[in-house]
Amino acid sequence: MKSPPDTSEFDTPSRILMGPGPSMIAPRVLRAMSTQALGYMDPAFLEIMDDIQELLRYTFQTDNEWTLATSGTGTAAMETAIGNLVEPGDTMLVPTNGYFGDRMGKLARRAGGDVVTVDAPWGEPLQPADVADAFDEHQPDVFGFIHAETSTGVRQPNVPELTDIAHDHDALVLADCVTSLSGVELHLDEWGIDAAYGSPQKCLSCTPGATPLTMNDRAREKVLNRETDTGSWYLDLDLVMEYWGDERNYHHTAPTTNFYGLREALRLVAEEGLENRWERHREVAGELREGLQQLGLEPAAEKEYWLPSLNTIEVPDGVDDTAVIEFLMQEYDIEIASGLGALEGDVWRIGCMGYSARRQNVACLLTAMEEALE
Ligand code: PLP
Repeated sequence: MKSPPDTSEFDTPSRILMGPGPSMIAPRVLRAMSTQALGYMDPAFLEIMDDIQELLRYTFQTDNEWTLATSGTGTAAMETAIGNLVEPGDTMLVPTNGYFGDRMGKLARRAGGDVVTVDAPWGEPLQPADVADAFDEHQPDVFGFIHAETSTGVRQPNVPELTDIAHDHDALVLADCVTSLSGVELHLDEWGIDAAYGSPQKCLSCTPGATPLTMNDRAREKVLNRETDTGSWYLDLDLVMEYWGDERNYHHTAPTTNFYGLREALRLVAEEGLENRWERHREVAGELREGLQQLGLEPAAEKEYWLPSLNTIEVPDGVDDTAVIEFLMQEYDIEIASGLGALEGDVWRIGCMGYSARRQNVACLLTAMEEALE
């Protein structure tokens, strides 16, 4: 018989989270998550799910009936979207200008799809002309792009131009809105996006675990008319929607407290108002960007496609990027992150998301950064 390990109560250090996510959890979300569980068929719980759907439609700016929270993190939502929309033999077009476009390609391959790419350098957005050329060359069935690339701090502009190209070729458009949802301007229906997913732990300031996902009727038809079953039973939207829709059939146990938290996070979005929230992110991140420039640091992304929720800052020659990250953590309890993938060692990634996107955090970070660079 093994004896119980000697553990003490977990004493969470108090951090200011300004990395690429998670962001700090909004206090009201924490409170909502500490309430008692309900059964997954309890009418009160089903009402919470209805509220989540309605609040998500507002947050995505969509009328999509298929709007839900997937059980899992952003990657589970990405895999749900791709695994349902891409059938073996389909072609999916993905971007090469960042880490998460690459992940889209990996998941499409696992779904049995042929993956083709549209190129842009890391740190730059896709150009509509290149997307059009890729469509002419490959005729893909699904086009995936990253609205807010967390590895490069680039916001994809010209979204309606990209979706027009895809629709002219009869393809579906999937947008990764993990780092943009509720923090950066996004009009899903108006911009012609057929399917999208977000993240609870970025600009929504909730915990990871229940991830927003939505699909319009065109995308839903594709899923419902598949010739083969979706590879994953757990992520099969046709089955999952029998629980979220009128049937209310059991599929898997919902992550109860995650749903409480997500509902509260989305209520906060609705109370603040989407446009005010986008403006707050722009304003607070603008102060951060300017303050860092005054310290002699340069943003890596051009202002034109700058992503307020995730700021990439060039590491000056002769500065040890990880030593600065460690200094901020040890001396000021502030988390920022190093570059990811091709930008590793070249940039810092500083998040300005949701409850973390507050002037007091920016002021503290600028003070700490000035000291770190001395
Ligand atoms: N897509 C983007 C743009 C991301 O930034 C991330 C994570 O940071 C993901 C997808 C994957 O999300 P998760 O880590 O929650 O699985």
